Amino acid sequence: MLSAILKSSSLNRAAQSPLARRAFSTNLPMLQQASQVKQTSQAPTVKNFIHGEMVESQANKWIELHNPATQELLGLVPESTLDELKEATKSAEAAAKEWKKTTALHRQRVMLDLQYLIRQNMDRLAENIVQEQGKTFVDAKGDVFRGLQVVEQACALTSQLMGEKLTVAKDMETYMYREPLGVTAGICPFNFPAMIPLWMFPLSIAAGNSMIMKPSERDPGAMMMLAELAAEAGVPKGVLNIVHGSVDCVNFICDEPAIKAISFVGSDNAGKHIYTRGNANGKRVQANLGAKNHAVVMPDANKQAALNAIAGAAFGAAGQRCMALSTLVMVGETKEWLPELAERAKQLKVGYGMDPETDLGPVITPQAKERAERLVQSGVDEGANLLLDGRGIVVKGYEKGNFVGPTILSDVKTNMECYREEIFAPVLVCLQVDTLDEAIELINANPYGNGTAIFTNSGPVARKFEHEIDVGQVGINSPIPVPVPPFSFTGSRGSILGDMNFYGKSGLHFYTKPKTVTALWREADATHSRSSVAMPTM
Ligand code: NAD
Repeated sequence: MLSAILKSSSLNRAAQSPLARRAFSTNLPMLQQASQVKQTSQAPTVKNFIHGEMVESQANKWIELHNPATQELLGLVPESTLDELKEATKSAEAAAKEWKKTTALHRQRVMLDLQYLIRQNMDRLAENIVQEQGKTFVDAKGDVFRGLQVVEQACALTSQLMGEKLTVAKDMETYMYREPLGVTAGICPFNFPAMIPLWMFPLSIAAGNSMIMKPSERDPGAMMMLAELAAEAGVPKGVLNIVHGSVDCVNFICDEPAIKAISFVGSDNAGKHIYTRGNANGKRVQANLGAKNHAVVMPDANKQAALNAIAGAAFGAAGQRCMALSTLVMVGETKEWLPELAERAKQLKVGYGMDPETDLGPVITPQAKERAERLVQSGVDEGANLLLDGRGIVVKGYEKGNFVGPTILSDVKTNMECYREEIFAPVLVCLQVDTLDEAIELINANPYGNGTAIFTNSGPVARKFEHEIDVGQVGINSPIPVPVPPFSFTGSRGSILGDMNFYGKSGLHFYTKPKTVTALWREADATHSRSSVAMPTM
């Protein structure tokens, strides 16, 4: 089915520009991630988007794009060549110079049109996400919607980018306004193929920059569709470019002097590398990394509501959310609730994302499935209790899919591998403590600080938790506390590198630099022509 979508979109139109016909010339080192696929395959190829054109890559290395529910080969993603990466940069550099001259009002109009077009194409985008990423159609629409909210924030740039002015002495004013940086870049993970690109390029472009996006090589389709919509909304050629690939493409972005800032979301290893390499090259880098999000269940919690919320947040999206509640801390007698939680989890239907009955789809790759199953086994081997085992699940009609059913490990200890690693699959690890203080201590000792939640009916308990917990996003009876813009995504400690958060005011600040001007226009000069010989006192 996706082949049909790909064929009907300009993704598959081989727009042959002079750029695409350029001779292949690169001495890039061997790639670590690309499977070496010959372009003799019949699968459609994913294009680069350079200077407003969908351009066939001249790559000699291609990455296979599979439907995780079926293993159907959906397309081939190029490891864009060095020439193509340079061409994208050249185009973005030239476009940034002109785009920054446009007014905030003009850019606001473009963003208003973009938000309208995304809304119109919500289902088409969501269907592509189901095919490439595997999540359910409803959840995929949520993926687009949460990104759309950032486009809506970008529409408010006329007030959010407003400067400041103060009279600092007689006839002297200092004023501050924020200027764009020039060329910016975004590097995306696979788990939110629409939302995370939309955290990045709309705010950067609204602020007057150009942007080079590198979507995840595992599901680039939504980004390609968004590029088409951006062009239709009036984003000029070169203001948004898309290149593809993995390690070498990313390293190019880290090293290319014309690129002034990098937004990254993804795993710890890649993020640490990009942050260090980008910083070493003098770039501004914001990097959101991995997570291990704990939910605390207090004995006074509304049991039914808490168990429902936890099952949804632990197993929804097959656990592949950076804010998934992957770790449960049961306080006191609430450990007796675990069998009931397992019952709820068992009722969740695992299957193909377009099936309206499905609650959770496959994980992204066979390797991700194999890793999750191995980590579950490591828990068992280290003494945890396997309360619910979702390994080896087979979905009728989708026997080749990377499915893992909801899995619960209880009696987990903090030294076990299944606790220390981010599993990124529908696997919930449960620990027990006697008091709230112990729960807080346990969570604060974990290196990650992305999100946490407490389930309680006590205001004072919630208040104590909120103040003492060292995690950037706190939910109170709210399982996935991802703030909407105009707040920012405020993961902390090991879940972030860099000081400026995604979206919200901080998001716009990341893509701009402040300039202050101190201006002296003496009113007296309008009427007096004599020089003053006295010492200036301002
Ligand atoms: P990933 O790190 O494998 O990939 C992210 C991007 O980095 C991709 O574009 C990829 O091409 C590139 N990349 C991967 N390895 C690289 C390397 N060695 N050198 C240079 N570039 C490299 O992440 P993923 O598996 O796509 O996404 C899942 C991860 O993202 C999870 O850890 C999840 O917690 C995290 N995530 C975090 C947030 C957040 O806001 N904190 C949001 C979503 C996802």
